[in-house]
Amino acid sequence: MINVQDKFQDIRAAVKDLCSDFNDEYFRKIDEDRSYPKKFVDALTKAGWMAALIPEKYGGSGLGLVEASVIMEEINRCGGNSGACHGQMYNMGTLLRHGSERQKKYFLPKIASGELSLQSMAVTEPTTGTDTTKLKTKAYKKGSNYIINGQKVWISRVNNSDLMILLARTTPISEVTKKSQGMSIFIVDILNAKKNGMTVRPIRNMVNHETNELFFENLEIPEENLIGSEGMGFKYIMDGLNAERALIAAECIGDGYWFIDKVTKYTSERIVFDRPIAQNQGVQFPIARAYINLEAANLMRYKACELFDQNMSCGAESNMAKLLAADASWDAANVCLQYHGGFGFAAEYDIERKFRETRLYQVAPISTNLILSYIAEHVLNLPRSF
Ligand SMILES: Cc1cc2nc3c(=O)[nH]c(=O)nc-3n(C[C@H](O)[C@H](O)[C@H](O)COP(=O)(O)OP(=O)(O)OC[C@H]3O[C@@H](n4cnc5c(N)ncnc54)[C@H](O)[C@@H]3O)c2cc1C
Repeated sequence: MINVQDKFQDIRAAVKDLCSDFNDEYFRKIDEDRSYPKKFVDALTKAGWMAALIPEKYGGSGLGLVEASVIMEEINRCGGNSGACHGQMYNMGTLLRHGSERQKKYFLPKIASGELSLQSMAVTEPTTGTDTTKLKTKAYKKGSNYIINGQKVWISRVNNSDLMILLARTTPISEVTKKSQGMSIFIVDILNAKKNGMTVRPIRNMVNHETNELFFENLEIPEENLIGSEGMGFKYIMDGLNAERALIAAECIGDGYWFIDKVTKYTSERIVFDRPIAQNQGVQFPIARAYINLEAANLMRYKACELFDQNMSCGAESNMAKLLAADASWDAANVCLQYHGGFGFAAEYDIERKFRETRLYQVAPISTNLILSYIAEHVLNLPRSF
């Protein structure tokens, strides 16, 4: 196994130890059944890993995004899929940075103890897609409640979370000077919402990602569940998305190491033409190249996480880390599949499962094209495209 040299060996060893109770067979079965790895997520919660980012005064361990990213990386590196639980990590940043003291005092200790989970975030809509500021879900104030109407799509872990962060428009786009203004975010009590105007329709998909269409019909949310100031939601969500991108980069790094470990072992052992296939440089070089790309992406992932933890601007670095790591893990996935020959396609080798899982990160939570567009416009000052 490739030895990662960094200062997080204690975290790595502890997460790895926990993951050893949930072997390949466990995750394979979960994937086949399209079920949720509840036992695994419960074990992570009980061990305190899902509360890594919660400050100690609210019952968490007060670690930074860099440590959170190591936790997510190790899960994927051990053969698991942190897509089942990463939502709580990036949603936490939104609540911590923009929630009121009252909200933090109420929610954070309950999340830290595992009484509540905050795994869902509802942004994407079917008719507007990546053009987020045009979203059509509306919230208007009535007495001490906000009334929500609209629709979302691809919203993950709704049936395995107690709470969800929802982005909705509170001021019509025609009445704001900038299209990013006039949106707000709310904390939704999912169980309550399911009984009062929110319908959840699961979408069966290529990966085992519990993701859904949501329909809101006069869903009432108490005004105290508004996070931060009304109209500022898009900015808050963007902050959280930087954390999400850096965390996804780490997950891709974990996947990438898993693929490289797997393919180096297999190609060293598989004998064809009377020698290990790895003895052929035609086999060695693509593996070496995939590893080099992975190591380079890893540097940008640490840079993004460290900037986030220092409260510094990290939009460019988080986006670049996500793109580099998603590409690196996808290269590693292809190399791993290729040099397992036919066996790469057999479910029992787990490669086809991890291959599907890591492919997602070319599209979600942000597609590679949109990252390129961000860097072109915001870093290189090239003309705005849309
Ligand atoms: C398994 C899964 C889980 C998800 N979980 C969540 C979740 O929990 N919460 C949530 O809010 N969303 C979630 N999403 C949604 C995800 O973030 C979106 O699918 C993604 O951002 C792309 O949006 P879209 O599907 O609407 O694609 P579109 O916006 O329709 O784009 C389609 C393609 O066209 C490209 N494209 C669009 N416009 C341009 C342009 N101007 N220039 C170049 N290329 C362009 C895009 O890059 C993309 O590849 C999830 C998606 C999946 C598949």
